[in-house]
Amino acid sequence: MWEYAPAPESRDIANLKPSYRMFVDGEFVEGAGEPLKTVNPATEEVLAEVSTASKDDVDRAVRAARRAYERVWGRMPGAERAKYIYRIARMMAERARELAVLESLDNGKPIRESRDVDVPTASAHFFYHAGWADKLAYAGLGPDPKPLGVAGQVIPWNFPLLMAAWKIAPALACGNTVVLKPAETTPLTALVLAEIVQQAELPPGVVNILPGAGDVGAELVSHAGVDKVAFTGSTEVGKLIQRSLAGRGKKLTLELGGKAANVVFDDAPLDQAVEGIVNGIFFNQGHVCCAGSRLLVQESVADELIEKLHARISTLRIGDPLDKNTDVGAINSREQLTRITSLVEAGEQEGAEKWVSPCPLPDKGFFFAPTVFSGVSQAMRIAREEIFGPVLSVLTFRTPDEAVAKANNTPYGLSAGIWTEKGSRILWMADKLRAGVVWANTFNRFDPTAPFGGYQESGFGREGGRAGLEAYLDV
Ligand code: NAP
Ligand code: MG
Repeated sequence: MWEYAPAPESRDIANLKPSYRMFVDGEFVEGAGEPLKTVNPATEEVLAEVSTASKDDVDRAVRAARRAYERVWGRMPGAERAKYIYRIARMMAERARELAVLESLDNGKPIRESRDVDVPTASAHFFYHAGWADKLAYAGLGPDPKPLGVAGQVIPWNFPLLMAAWKIAPALACGNTVVLKPAETTPLTALVLAEIVQQAELPPGVVNILPGAGDVGAELVSHAGVDKVAFTGSTEVGKLIQRSLAGRGKKLTLELGGKAANVVFDDAPLDQAVEGIVNGIFFNQGHVCCAGSRLLVQESVADELIEKLHARISTLRIGDPLDKNTDVGAINSREQLTRITSLVEAGEQEGAEKWVSPCPLPDKGFFFAPTVFSGVSQAMRIAREEIFGPVLSVLTFRTPDEAVAKANNTPYGLSAGIWTEKGSRILWMADKLRAGVVWANTFNRFDPTAPFGGYQESGFGREGGRAGLEAYLDV
């Protein structure tokens, strides 16, 4: 392997400001909550101070969203709403470099990913849903489907801008107004999206963005003025929300955790599978709800595949997220780093065999070297719990039936992968795997036209595609 010269993006492109304010009723305003400091996880430096919402601010935002819904947005013809949504999509594309650099600074993900995946896919979500705004009568959900009203939305830190787009675009297209709370560690790109919303001249109150910690999220989802709750985050908090909303008549969708099986059969093209496995677990440092965190490999090719995997993973470059050559960036927070470390220790204690990439790590910042556990058994914590980091657990199987049984042996059910030359086997497996998304001979592909969502403890409801519209319409 040859060495690459560093090729960092300039952080000036991010137009980073020393402070950011929340966005309510079309204005940037100071929140009455305790301001938070958002950190660059690759350097541990404070990037900016961000004002947060108090209980009264949540109330004000929900009231603004209600007014906007009743007076303007809810009754606007779909073709008119579409113009605004297209405008947001175009402005995001115009500011793509700025958004990508800002996302990498605030989140720690490699610029290659924020530039090539997060930002273009976020813009694509607005484009796609803008197209639906005047065609809702043809979505198969009745001749004249109506919006729900005010949507309260809470998102996690792993895809800050993309999750905001997944939430806001369908809500607006269906005629709802929104109040969204970004994650505490990654509020910045959602606030630039608010700037875009303002510049696109959306009527005040249609979109409101409230930074803050979990208490702001809890306040928002339980507010009596919210008609629909959409939450993406941990299964633990999802259950809490579902419990608190029980019997209150609010429509709810939950996109929660996962522990996906990536299943490799002995007839699979192994070199191609290696690329898919690496992408499946090391993309976004493994901070991906649908990450292929459990590799199930047919016993006869296990040794060969693991050897190829180690060789490939050894070439991954870990470090500066702004460097265009970086493959694996920083872990988003110290808390997450601690969680990953403790689960890896549990894996060692339970007797799995640990292999760690020999790559050098930066001295500063939150980094974790790509790690592979082999000899993993189903009862181990590293086979059952979501690690949400760059750690792969390898299990083996002998027959297709055993592969299905092991793949489905999880409380989750968000995604799965199948690697085989046989089309019939792909269809047979896809039919039996209890997962919302099944990829065949690829992994981690996202497209606004394809519905995404889970079974069991991965949540319910779909985002994206025609199915995703249902969550924002009164059907
Ligand atoms: P989390 O702790 O559940 O946080 C998610 C969001 O909820 C954050 O904005 C958080 O605020 C907020 N929150 C915390 N407590 C709350 C409460 N009681 N009521 C309302 N909101 C509350 O999850 P995370 O650790 O940030 O994110 C990782 C998890 O998200 C993983 O389990 C992952 O699998 C899941 N995820 C799922 C999908 C999917 O589509 N299925 C996509 C991405 C991630 P703070 O930021 O202040 O804590
Ligand atoms: Mg941050």
